[in-house]
Amino acid sequence: MDTVTRKSLIYRTGIGGKGAYAATHVVGCSHGCRFPCYAFLMMQRFGKVASYEEWCRPRLVANALQLAQKELPRLRDKARSVHLSFATDAFMYQQPEVTALTLQLMRLINSYDIPVHTLTKGVIPEEALQLSRANQFGITLVSVDENFWTRYEPGTAPYPERIAALCRAHDRGFHSFVNMEPYPTPNIWQQDVLRVLEAVDFVDEVRLGQLNYNDTVKQYPGWKAFYRRTGVIARDWCTEHGIAYEGIAAAEVRHVRHAASDPRDLFGA
Ligand code: SF4
Repeated sequence: MDTVTRKSLIYRTGIGGKGAYAATHVVGCSHGCRFPCYAFLMMQRFGKVASYEEWCRPRLVANALQLAQKELPRLRDKARSVHLSFATDAFMYQQPEVTALTLQLMRLINSYDIPVHTLTKGVIPEEALQLSRANQFGITLVSVDENFWTRYEPGTAPYPERIAALCRAHDRGFHSFVNMEPYPTPNIWQQDVLRVLEAVDFVDEVRLGQLNYNDTVKQYPGWKAFYRRTGVIARDWCTEHGIAYEGIAAAEVRHVRHAASDPRDLFGA
């Protein structure tokens, strides 16, 4: 796999509250989501990748561990968590080198008593479940329809594999969450939000967010009302099932992953 080098790795992010940090240890993502991927759009806009094809050929940050070793001592008392990652996928499907680097980083960050929160459309590996119980694991899941997967998430792990790995993390006692974002409007994909929720009824937390950067959304008549309705359904379903809920129609709306409007929240300065 090709590599790049960076000048810094771990950065303070506005997503996730006080003490939230994040790192982007890979440039690009072979999952190649076609919503399109917000991280790809931002990376292209800021000149970090030239094309979709280049984005789909991930490059490891070769000096990620050295940078983390240098940066972590001063974060020991400040960081409540490090998120991997807002601009790539921590357990990229069938990319063992990415997973290996993520695991090395997790071990290093945990050695400073800082928990890691990972988010993936791949498969959470068994090795990650041997690490600190303070770590949290999440998957992104906006549909359980195989045709949606083929069309919009061509390089990601199939839904059953993705969900089963999160379920294993939950069963081992890790905090587990599902990011239902970017959730599609019916003119992009017709589906029942309850089907998606029921597929992950074991999780501790659900976060629902709308699709913000695809003009097709606004062509759907009453798209704002659609998102409000969907949010209310998801919120009420979570309440009935004793699952924490964040996002559209939550009492307190906070940012979730792709709601980031500041590129520094995605990949640092
Ligand atoms: S998995 Fe996430 S980072 Fe990777 S292409 Fe899809 S949306 Fe982008």
